[in-house]
Amino acid sequence: MPSVSDALSGPEYPSAATIDDFVRNIASVRACIAAAAERSGRDASEIRLLPVSKTVAEDRVRLAVEAGCRELGENKVQEAKRKHGNLADLDVRWSVIGHLQTNKARDVAAFAAEFQALDSLRVAEVLDRRLQALGRSLDVYVQVNTSAEESKYGLEPADVPAFLAALPRYTALRVRGFMTLALFTTDTPRVRECFRALRTVRDRARDADPDLIGPGELSMGMSGDYEVAIEEGADCVRLGQAIFGARTTANDLYWPTPTKE
Ligand SMILES: *Cc1c(COP(=O)(O)O)cnc(C)c1O
Repeated sequence: MPSVSDALSGPEYPSAATIDDFVRNIASVRACIAAAAERSGRDASEIRLLPVSKTVAEDRVRLAVEAGCRELGENKVQEAKRKHGNLADLDVRWSVIGHLQTNKARDVAAFAAEFQALDSLRVAEVLDRRLQALGRSLDVYVQVNTSAEESKYGLEPADVPAFLAALPRYTALRVRGFMTLALFTTDTPRVRECFRALRTVRDRARDADPDLIGPGELSMGMSGDYEVAIEEGADCVRLGQAIFGARTTANDLYWPTPTKE
């Protein structure tokens, strides 16, 4: 079973090269999700598993889809757009889960079903304008920085209320809830603090004005820490390596340099 420490120390993420491998990896992840849900008195069927296919070649992505993946998360817009185009024959819902610059927002508006890293009104505005023109809408999660100085992406918790208050004017965006990345550390209590912080942001926002947060879901937890995230209330876990196998690209291509301790 993958753990936070595995995530930093060269984990046993079995790679998947056949449909059967994917079926096996997905089943073992589902079993861990079920166990974590059970421990925390939750219903596992309410927890969404978002497979993250970044860096994975398209032929292997096809196998994952044949094994049952109906939605896929990608961190980088270029890669997501390419895969969306080349895999257009598949019935897949694409979720962009990485930081977005305004010049890429048009692309996201065109092909994505969901954007999980909304943290600027400039991006919200460009997305909305483009979506309106296309007659589309987009599910969004507001990304929150729950690890303070460790991350450069995401809103500070204190800035969330004003941000939420400004979003309703962008009517093509449908707020689903909040997303965060926890600290990269083997120190589970500190990881847990990040997830709790996101839950607190959600609970406060809900108390202040439930209409601004849609279903108020929490997208938190990755291959190394999703069980802790579920214990802290995750509604969506984003799993790459636990499904596709260990990634060789450095994580700091996608995030600021992880803390090693
Ligand atoms: C890559 C990525 C994940 C999944 O990470 P794994 O370690 O492969 O599970 C989750 N969320 C975001 C934002 C990512 O970029």
